[in-house]
Amino acid sequence: MDFKPPQKYAPNPDLKIFVNGRIVPAAEAMVSVFDHGLLYGDGVFEGLRSYSGRVFRLDRHLQRLEESARAIRLELPMTRQELVTATYETLEANKIIDGYVRLVVTRGVGTLGLSPRRTECPSVFIITSQIELYPRELYEQGMAIISCSVVRNHPNAIAPRIKSLNYLNNILAKIEALDAGVHEAVMYNHLGYVAECTGDNIFLVREGTVLTSPVAAGILEGITRDAVIELVQRRKLPFRETDLNRHDLYVANECFLTGTAAEVIPVTQIDGRPIGNGQPGPITRQLIADFKALVNGGE
Ligand code: PMP
Repeated sequence: MDFKPPQKYAPNPDLKIFVNGRIVPAAEAMVSVFDHGLLYGDGVFEGLRSYSGRVFRLDRHLQRLEESARAIRLELPMTRQELVTATYETLEANKIIDGYVRLVVTRGVGTLGLSPRRTECPSVFIITSQIELYPRELYEQGMAIISCSVVRNHPNAIAPRIKSLNYLNNILAKIEALDAGVHEAVMYNHLGYVAECTGDNIFLVREGTVLTSPVAAGILEGITRDAVIELVQRRKLPFRETDLNRHDLYVANECFLTGTAAEVIPVTQIDGRPIGNGQPGPITRQLIADFKALVNGGE
C-alpha cells in the first residue's frame, strides 16, 4: 500500500537538507535502515538557533557536539570549520535568517549487531526549519509543568551531558507530561534531586536568589542555561547552583525553563500548585528581556 504521512506532519517538500556533504531536497534526504543511529539511537546531535542570520554560540554548540561524540567514541567525519560552513550553507539554501537548526551525526550504516566497529563512516545531516516549541501566549502567561515519575538517566549509565540520539528517557517523561495535559515535566535524578525537564533546563528564584541544579545532578549543560547564568551574574543577582528537591519547587517565588528552542519561558504552576502568585515573576521577566537583547545583539 502506498502509505502517505498525514500532511500536517509531512516535511515541507521545498526544504533543503544537508546530507553527507550535499544539499538535497527533503524528498531525497534519506538515511539507510541499517544506520545505527536509527537501529540503536547510536549518534549525537545539536539543536541550534539562528538569529538575524547568525547562529547563536555556534562554537559552543560544536564543542558540545565534539564532546558528546568523544564520549561515545564516535569520530566526527567533519572538522569544526566544515560543520560551520555546512550549517550556514544549509540556512542559506533555505533562505532562513531566523530559525532552528538540527545537526545530527549518526554512527553510520553497519551490520545488525551492536558493535560500532562494524559500521561504515558516520552520517551527518543538517535540517533547518522554523519551529515554535511552545504556544506564544505561554511566554506571557507562564506554563504549567508536572513532576514526573520517570527518573533521569543515571550519569554512569547514559550521561545526560551526552546529547545522544537516544532520547527515550526524555520521551517517556514527555508522554507523562502530555498525558497530564502539560508541555513539560521535571525529571528527578536517581537521588531524588531535580535534574532538568525533558528538553529544557530549570531555574528557580527564591527570596531574590536564582537557583539551578548543578551539572553533577545529571543534566545537559544547556547553552541557554550558560547564557542565562551570565545574564544573572551581569545583573549581580545572588546565584547558586545547588541540589534542589520537590519542596524547593513548591516554595519557589518564580520558576523558568531555558533551552535553545524554548529560549526562556516562565513556569507558573507545578503539579497543580501555583508558583509564587501564579504569574511570571519580575526576575523571570527581566531575564527574558535580557536574553532577547543578548540574542539580538549577536553575542
Ligand atoms: N536539557 C535537555 C534534555 C535538552 O534536550 C536540552 C536541549 N533542548 C536542554 C536541556 C537545553 O539545552 P540548550 O540550552 O543547549 O538547548
